[in-house]
Amino acid sequence: MAKPKDTTIRTFQYKLKANKSFVTACEKTLDAARFVYNCALQQRIDLYKYAGKSISKFEQSRQLTEARNELPEVADCLRSIQTDVLDRLDITFQAFFQRGAGFPRFKGRDRYHTFSQQIEKQRVCPLKGDKLTVPGVGSCRVRLSRPIEGTVKQLRITRRASGWYALLVCEMPKPLPLPKTGLSVGIDVGIKEFATLSTGEQIANPRTLQQHAENLAKLQRRMAKKRKGSQRRAKAKQKVALAYEKVGNTRKDFHHKLSTRLVNEFDTITVEDLQITNMVRNHKLSKAILDVGWNSFFTMARCKAASADKVFEKVSPAYTSQDCSKCGHRQKMPLQVRVFDCGNCDHKQDRDLNAAINISNRGERPRINKARGDARACLRSGNRFRLTARNENQDDSSQRSVSPDAKIAIDISSISGILRTMQPNM
Ligand SMILES: [Zn+2]
Repeated sequence: MAKPKDTTIRTFQYKLKANKSFVTACEKTLDAARFVYNCALQQRIDLYKYAGKSISKFEQSRQLTEARNELPEVADCLRSIQTDVLDRLDITFQAFFQRGAGFPRFKGRDRYHTFSQQIEKQRVCPLKGDKLTVPGVGSCRVRLSRPIEGTVKQLRITRRASGWYALLVCEMPKPLPLPKTGLSVGIDVGIKEFATLSTGEQIANPRTLQQHAENLAKLQRRMAKKRKGSQRRAKAKQKVALAYEKVGNTRKDFHHKLSTRLVNEFDTITVEDLQITNMVRNHKLSKAILDVGWNSFFTMARCKAASADKVFEKVSPAYTSQDCSKCGHRQKMPLQVRVFDCGNCDHKQDRDLNAAINISNRGERPRINKARGDARACLRSGNRFRLTARNENQDDSSQRSVSPDAKIAIDISSISGILRTMQPNM
């Protein structure tokens, strides 16, 4: 039996003090990574279209090795970076098949901002003092905002509106579990309030977030007035991108603080298992739903709970707002009705609070060994390029050879054919 993991994953982020030549090297690597990504995607599409086959990332990886021997321009980019590209593509396919996410798309220059590589255990830490060495790219100073801990597993370089960043995904011993409080909580998330706790507390979206959002809207209006392709529009666009980043950072900060507080205060945290993609598709409120970002908040709470040996769980959202939290009586609750007034007992309560208590009641059963699954989710969020596939082995052998009479078998049966025919700067 597998032991529950006694390590945890944390990501350290540093802003790069990148000079021109380092930025050029990063951009070159990004382009090279994007090229492999698009080619590998093309291969998967063609294989399916013309031969009805699927291909695993392992087979693509094997073919990439061959392609590197034949094509020096492909061999120019570090192998470990290309491996992560194939992993990343594989994950988007899994998201498509398993979670109903969108079909993986080809990436243009403005849709590809991150390259990454695994750092083997025996290798030295890429960050020494404030000097970061990116294998295959070069080295650069960073703004050392906090000291790094643990062993670096993966190094990611990412481009944002505010500059270039390094993300170091580290593995470290699990911290001592937080003291148990004996308390549990159910959380009902909403649009108007960010969350209502079963303790009766309401947590509003922070005011600063709203201010940033208003500012963003203003900048977007300004950009819309500028002529397309003009220098002024490019400048306005950069401002919008910066504002977006700021809103994202503020939201993330808010989520971090709240999730830390909840994990400190409660042993069990229960939330509704919301199918957010469905809600967004069907709901008038879709923009507002995406905007509050419950999913990323849930992921944070789950990771923190896992590393503190506490329980985070999702329960079915069915009828949480229609059931009486006191007697269980079920009644219709149209959205505009803000107070739950039970038709069976004398229970009268704020709608969201009633729901939060129902959620809490559904989750309160003590669970042992819940932490293991959570640790995996944690690894995934900190290091999402290493998610292991459920069925990546099973169809491996069948792809070795593509039927020779398939029309364009020569091109699609090996990635090098595609690498050869595709334009590197598409
Ligand atoms: Zn009742």
